[in-house]
Parts: sequence; structure tokens; C-alpha cells
Amino acid sequence: MKIAILSRNPHLYSTRRLAEAIKEAGHEAQIVDHSLCDLIIEQVGPSIIYKGEKLEGIDAIIPRIGASVTFYGTAVVRQFELMGTFSAVESQAIVRSRDKLRSLQILSRAGLGMPKTAFTNFSKGGEKALIERVGGAPLIIKLLEGTQGLGVVLAETKKAGQSVIEAFHGLKARIIVQEFIKEAKGADIRAFVVNGKVVGAMKRQGAEGEFRSNLHRGGKATVIKLSRAEKTAALNAAKALGLDIAGVDMLQSERGPLILEVNSSPGLEGIEKATGVNIAGEIVKFIEGAVNKQPLKRKIK
Ligand code: ADP
Ligand code: GLU
Repeated sequence: MKIAILSRNPHLYSTRRLAEAIKEAGHEAQIVDHSLCDLIIEQVGPSIIYKGEKLEGIDAIIPRIGASVTFYGTAVVRQFELMGTFSAVESQAIVRSRDKLRSLQILSRAGLGMPKTAFTNFSKGGEKALIERVGGAPLIIKLLEGTQGLGVVLAETKKAGQSVIEAFHGLKARIIVQEFIKEAKGADIRAFVVNGKVVGAMKRQGAEGEFRSNLHRGGKATVIKLSRAEKTAALNAAKALGLDIAGVDMLQSERGPLILEVNSSPGLEGIEKATGVNIAGEIVKFIEGAVNKQPLKRKIK
């Protein structure tokens, strides 16, 4: 098989590891920068032009679409799907997972636990009531478009919370207001799901005095064995969003696992190093099985 990795940077750990795993399994790997693809759309035969040539003979793709290029990247994934190429992550599922609010709505419909969350359309004067809705202070305020822990604020008091909400809204930045899960103690869990199985899980602990556990913010990762409830929550979250590959972030709370976020291009470095599992190899195995099961049941929505 020829498997393409859609990635803008061949030197990234995840890109390198996926290319390695593809070759180890006896396939051909090609790295395609989705931002350099031209999409040709016509009545017959959609095609992709890459560096002046038509892309042909690709059996499957692994999208690694960064948050800043979601619009164009998912259009490229959709074009591959139209051409009948198997995508390890469906284009629509990437779009869905990139909208934090929509994702939370879908997870709530699936009955999954999450921190109580409020969203408002820049309402002036309603900040105080909104804070009360999520249980008062301390509370978490998040930029809807934030990643890697940037744009996540812990407000210790209602007054501080009110000022932060007003400031973000003054800048026309959309935010969500969330109940602060104190008992998580600055840690979260990342479960890596491939094809309906948790293939690895780690606990990330924030640096001393830091409530955010992101590795980019100095968090440290260690391998963890998930409880049955945590495993079920991770699998159900990935399923609800239609993701065959997902990084599910959860907080451990007194009322069980609470889903924070489901990532459709989860990084491999932290999880492979913490768990020692060949996650890239698991992804390739999933693709092998799926491509052999053609025609695919998935629909383009
Ligand atoms: P990002 O997508 O930017 O990583 P997250 O929503 O995952 O944003 O938040 C970053 C980190 O902040 C989380 O990994 C977690 O450690 C902490 N955090 C986020 N929301 C809450 C919350 N409601 N209660 C407690 N800690 C939180
Ligand atoms: N992009 C990384 C991931 O999704 C973020 C890692 C972090 O939490 O800092 O795995």
C-alpha cells in the first residue's frame, strides 16, 4: 500500500514515527503538505495537484491537520475521500472536534460527564449570573479557539472572573465559562484511542503551582492504568465524535471522569514515551484492516 501522511512538517516526531511505522509494515510512505495541495473539482474525477503533479496511487491518508489550517486541511481530506481514498480520520469528524462548543454539545447528548460549562453571545451585564450558573468562584474561563493551554484562565474570585469575561468579550473573543475541578489537582488523563480501543494512556501533571497539565506548559507525563469508567468514557467520547483516532483528555473528579476535550490529531511523542507503546504501529494496523474491508461503510456528511 501507499499511505500518505498529511503534515506540514516532516521533522515533527509524530510525522517521523508514522512514516517509520508505515515502512516497518512493508508499505510505502509519502508525506504530503496539505497546504500545498490544489483541489480540482469538476463533474467527473475530482483530483489533487501537488507540487505541479497529479497525486495518484494513494491507498490511504493519515491527516495531521493543525488547528490553524483546519478549513483548508479538511477540504483536502474531503477531496481524498471523494476520490475514494481511505482517511484514517474522517474530514467531518475533524471539523466537529475542532469546534469545542459543538463537541461538548455532542458529548452531552451522548450522556458523558464533563465540567459544567456555560456559553454566551457577548452579553453585557450578564457576567455575574453566568458565573453563578457554573457554581461561582473559583472558575475556569477558556478561549474557544485556544490550544496547548494558552487562553485557559483560572479566576480565583467572582470579581476576577467578571473582569476576565468582560476583557475577552471587549476583544470580541468567544469564550466558555467552566466549573473548576479542584480535585483534579493540576493533572489530567490522556487516553489514546485507535479503532475502538484504548492503545495507551498517560497522566499529565502540571508543574508546581500550575493548574494546567499541558506538556507545552511544563507538565510531566507518566503511564497510567485507566479505571473501567475512564476507559468507557474515552471510547464513548471518540465514538460520539466519529473519530477512529482520538486523544481524549479527561479530569478525574469526585463524580467520575469528566471529558475536557477530544483531539483529532493527538501528538505521539508524549504518549509513546510515557507508555512505551508503538502507537504509530497501532495506527498503521488499523489502516491495513480498514482498507482491506473496502467498500467502506462511512458516508460523506
Ligand atoms: P487546551 O485545549 O488549550 O489544552 P484545555 O481545556 O485542555 O485547553 O485545558 C488545559 C488544561 O487546563 C487541562 O489539561 C487541565 O489540566 C486544566 N483544566 C482545563 N479545564 C479545567 C477545569 N474545568 N477544571 C480544572 N482544570 C482544568
Ligand atoms: N498537540 C498535543 C496533543 O494533542 C498537545 C500536547 C500538550 O498537552 O501539550 O497531544
